[in-house]
Amino acid sequence: MRILIAEDDFTSRAMLAAVLRKGGHEVVEAANGLEAWLALQQSDAPKLAIIDWMMPEMDGLELVRRVRLLTTEHPPYLLMLTSKGEKADIIAGLDAGANDYLGKPFDAGELRARVMVGCRMVEMQAALNESRQALTYLATRDPLTGMLNRRAILEHLHKELARAARYGQALAVGICDIDHFKQINDTYGHQTGDDILCGLANNLQEYLRKYDTVGRMGGEEFLVVSTMPAGADGLALFDRLRSRIAVTVLSTRAGGLSITVSIGVASTVAGNTVDTLLEAADLALYQAKNGGRNKVVLFSPEKGGSETDNEVRR
Ligand code: GH3
Ligand code: MG
Ligand code: MG
Ligand code: MG
Repeated sequence: MRILIAEDDFTSRAMLAAVLRKGGHEVVEAANGLEAWLALQQSDAPKLAIIDWMMPEMDGLELVRRVRLLTTEHPPYLLMLTSKGEKADIIAGLDAGANDYLGKPFDAGELRARVMVGCRMVEMQAALNESRQALTYLATRDPLTGMLNRRAILEHLHKELARAARYGQALAVGICDIDHFKQINDTYGHQTGDDILCGLANNLQEYLRKYDTVGRMGGEEFLVVSTMPAGADGLALFDRLRSRIAVTVLSTRAGGLSITVSIGVASTVAGNTVDTLLEAADLALYQAKNGGRNKVVLFSPEKGGSETDNEVRR
């Protein structure tokens, strides 16, 4: 492991370094608190630091305090080195955020043992971080397509809706549903259907802009959340998306296949909630299906839910 030694006394630093190198560790040396502070702010900073209490520029206690104020997923393990044998000092060091302490002059055996405990803690922390990241990834992804799952895209919509309201921006949602998907399953089999879902998921992500986010709501239904300039409704964006999908050939185990989608679009008006927005998009989707599919319908609050009155594009 890479270990930082922050110690102003040359002899003591050299002795510490020798013991650690003998134990197979890589050593980074700092001759005062400020040097150590700079080293610990690097992105590849050592994960374990041995910190002398009395140092010029910045003392060990101040250094520990500062390090603990850094927001990082991988806080370093801090071992304080002190000739101050007073209980009150030791407590102050631990209170400031040190993980452990070692008396000075140090005993090589004790140093090795305490460093080993520190290494174990650092490794455990890294393993925990890794599994937490893996869990977060799994909890937010649709297993088939790898795109955001229903929960994650709805959570995103919640956040975007709040943000749009705060900044006076418009937001459009589009529910995209594959037309006659059941027929594809019936004709080519479920696995080919899965290939279509994965292919469409890729295309949706590729065709959309970077301000758009898409997730799988379930089955063959995808939700696109788009931030728009104020006043825009998203109709043009979704119609471009629809027409690109209609001319794209998806490669599946049954060969190249084409699909169409119907899209129900709703854009924000004052007082919209996630539920009212999705209800409106759902209604528009229903109209797009009834209107013959391969269509985009924009829900219009004034015109209500009537199919013919709403703006339909083909
Ligand atoms: P419409 O144009 O009205 O949307 O017709 P549709 O056939 O697409 O709609 P319907 O709701 O009747 O059928 C949806 C089908 O999607 C039925 C279901 O078996 C299939 N499906 C849902 N999830 C999956 C999946 O993960 N993989 C596959 N292969 N099929 C799925
Ligand atoms: Mg000193
Ligand atoms: Mg469908
Ligand atoms: Mg459906």
